[in-house]
Amino acid sequence: MSDCLFCKIINREIAASIVYEDDRVLAFNDINPQGPTHVLVVPKRHIATLNELTSDDDQIVGELIRRSAAIAKERGISEGGFRVVFNTNRDAGQTVFHIHLHLIGGRSLGWPPG
Ligand code: AMP
Ligand code: ZN
Repeated sequence: MSDCLFCKIINREIAASIVYEDDRVLAFNDINPQGPTHVLVVPKRHIATLNELTSDDDQIVGELIRRSAAIAKERGISEGGFRVVFNTNRDAGQTVFHIHLHLIGGRSLGWPPG
């Protein structure tokens, strides 16, 4: 989508600190990190919110989650623990309408979230 921030990052129209890329997935550091690790893992194909997912997306959603676990392992935080979050729509505070997995870790995380 031409007016989507994360599509622009995927298309290299906007710079980001990229930590992983393959044919289907891009991961980059969040510009406003909420912990020592805060990586956004996104599908290269534009999907606005989790509400738009269909069974055709099961593979890519699995890839996002498995990639987050792999990045956590690389960062040495998989044993200590980490959190993955998909904010969806207003009440969850979604601000970028291209689905993205937040991988947050490297510190003790409170629960429940705000
Ligand atoms: P959400 O509120 O779940 O939609 O999350 C959007 C996230 O994108 C926030 O954590 C922002 O800090 C992050 N963000 C916004 N612009 C950029 C950018 N240009 N590069 C990296 N992360 C960004
Ligand atoms: Zn997009």
